[in-house]
Amino acid sequence: MEKKKPEHAPITGFPVREGELTIGGITVSQLAGRLGSTPFYAYDKVLISERIDELRKYMPSRLKLHYAIKANPMPELVQHMSQIVDGMDLASSGEMAIALATGMDPSLISFAGPGKTEQELFLAIAAGVTINMESFNEMENIARISKEQNIIPRVAIRVNPDFELKSSGMKMGGGPQQFGVDSEAVPSMLKRLAELDLDFIGFHIFSGSQNLNEKNLLETQEKSLDLAISLAKYAPIKPKKINIGGGFGIPYFPGDTQLDLKILGDGLSNYMNKFHKELPDCEVVIELGRYMVGEAGIYVTKIIDKKTSRGEIYLITDGGMHHHLSASGNFGQLIRKNYPVAIANRMSVLTTEQVNIVGCLCTPLDRLGDKMMLPKAEVGDYVVIFQSGAYGLSASPTAFLGHAIPKEVLV
Ligand SMILES: *Cc1c(COP(=O)(O)O)cnc(C)c1O
Repeated sequence: MEKKKPEHAPITGFPVREGELTIGGITVSQLAGRLGSTPFYAYDKVLISERIDELRKYMPSRLKLHYAIKANPMPELVQHMSQIVDGMDLASSGEMAIALATGMDPSLISFAGPGKTEQELFLAIAAGVTINMESFNEMENIARISKEQNIIPRVAIRVNPDFELKSSGMKMGGGPQQFGVDSEAVPSMLKRLAELDLDFIGFHIFSGSQNLNEKNLLETQEKSLDLAISLAKYAPIKPKKINIGGGFGIPYFPGDTQLDLKILGDGLSNYMNKFHKELPDCEVVIELGRYMVGEAGIYVTKIIDKKTSRGEIYLITDGGMHHHLSASGNFGQLIRKNYPVAIANRMSVLTTEQVNIVGCLCTPLDRLGDKMMLPKAEVGDYVVIFQSGAYGLSASPTAFLGHAIPKEVLV
């Protein structure tokens, strides 16, 4: 068999016991038994808590940590997050219902998103969450709806900055964008805001996602804080909160490495000191989704067939892209790369072979692993896809091909 470079950075969160991968203290096959079927997603709450502890250890103590629910909206997981983070960010009324059900104080919740409906604005105003306004029209709508409700709503302006977060998996700021208000238009928006009955909270500047470059992340944080200071001069009152986004990435592919939190924390600490000289009472918030939960989750499927086609081995599983679009490479990736994969019940098997792992859908897009060197696997074995705690099930087209929706479990 050919020798290949390691498929991925080492995965450390899931200990192996008697040759089998465990999560939350039990083996994958025990968990499969407990759930009664495969495929499923499992998320480890201890790993999530440890990740938050690490952030608290290295990030400046005054920095507030928010969870972006979009990354994983599973209600039990969001409930867990509500106990360990300082606030939550959401982007739909569905996510708002999940967040409010945790009992978190609505003033710690903010609502972003470029196309909020009348109904969503109505609910957000009634709930008392902070609305990150994405346009002039939205501000006028909020003012009108809140007057009808006799409530003064909490609002922030989402700013589309004039810079970008370099080398991000997904850019969401800089240049023309559907998100936020261009920074140069913010002074005139603030002028209009001052004429309306709105409780101005501050600014939201989110530039991008899945970034593994400390230097670029820090540069964007510094620019975001500087931008907030310069825009604050136009505001009717001093901002109370600045949300500078996040974008912290996790390693998925060969060559990716973990972010160095110490470098990030030290850098941000310097910028925050500078920032607080200008705006001493203004809270600084970062919002993270993927980084908080992505590495704590696995997706588990079972091999239901194994066959050879013209020399290539195919492991055909009972899962696929309809459950895990991002692992199939079809969620915003330009080229398909393999997520880290293991055969859960053969962790100590030394004989490897090159295999292709596919799902059960009738489309060639349904690939979970291309030409991977893995322990020799058989029908009935469990294929585990790591780094599956964020943008997994909720980011997948579950109706495609009409299969059952997989279970999710927090362990
Ligand atoms: C998607 C999104 C996030 C979360 O991004 P991650 O890369 O998962 O950390 C945070 N804030 C906003 C506004 C988003 O749209």
